Amino acid sequence: MNFVVGNLTEPVFRPPSEWDALLIAITNGCTHRCTFCSMYRTKKFEIRKDIDEIKREIDQARALYGNRVRKIFFEDGNAFTVKSELLIEITEYCHKVHPNLEKVSAYAHAKDIVKKSDEELNNLADAGFTMVYVGVESGDDDVLKACKKGTNQDELALAAHKCHQAGIAWSGIFLLGLTGNDKEKSRKHAIESAKLINRMAPVKPIKWYVSPLTLEIAPGSELWAQQQCGEFQPGSFIQILEELYTMIEHTDDHLQNCIFNTNHASNYLSLKGELGENKQEFLRSIEVAINHTISKKRNW
Ligand code: SF4
Repeated sequence: MNFVVGNLTEPVFRPPSEWDALLIAITNGCTHRCTFCSMYRTKKFEIRKDIDEIKREIDQARALYGNRVRKIFFEDGNAFTVKSELLIEITEYCHKVHPNLEKVSAYAHAKDIVKKSDEELNNLADAGFTMVYVGVESGDDDVLKACKKGTNQDELALAAHKCHQAGIAWSGIFLLGLTGNDKEKSRKHAIESAKLINRMAPVKPIKWYVSPLTLEIAPGSELWAQQQCGEFQPGSFIQILEELYTMIEHTDDHLQNCIFNTNHASNYLSLKGELGENKQEFLRSIEVAINHTISKKRNW
């Protein structure tokens, strides 16, 4: 259960692993309108200007929950649009008020990470900001363009490395099924995503995270409208599993400290482990799922 202080505007989203975090809104909505996403379509994007008000909410959480807050997640969809000095000030304040705080995290867009200097990111990490969740979706520039992600493979790789060097844990979320039932495009999406994963590998021994999700077409999204008029047809679950297989198959065998996780509810198959170390096991599990009739029945 999340800790909340009534500062949030519905609808509210956060990564599954932040289910026990205190949610503090420092922005509302999202700067982007990706075609597959309906998360913040009803919200006009804004950066909250009143820092004292945000601090009062952080104080209020202390009064309500005492020393129990161990994680804080900054809402909404792109907290890195906030100026670095303010992000640092708010992060420091969170640690001052909540002495048992272990993790401070947020969603961020690659473009806004890249806009921050290495020094700013270092200072943010020193202030106690620990993790960023980035909707990568794909390593394929054509797919990124088609879904209006507003970034590309080069920028995503750079954003990951800037976070690695600062010591901010990088969690990259990929999206299986984005190319619909076009098998050729699906394969390219998978291979380019693997290429990006290989490019994102840190040079120093730190943990980083890769989590593929499976496309669920959300009513209200542009993709939903495309599906309604027959412009987009989703791929079968076998095609999605093949896409996952191809993605893993093309990752470097020697990737280190890359925590790979497909246990999000949208996925057909739950895999968890280290991408380099457990690569062959993951591939075998996907093969079994593809070939085994029981898996097909389970999907039904
Ligand atoms: S996918 Fe992420 S960046 Fe794109 S609109 Fe949704 S929240 Fe914003």
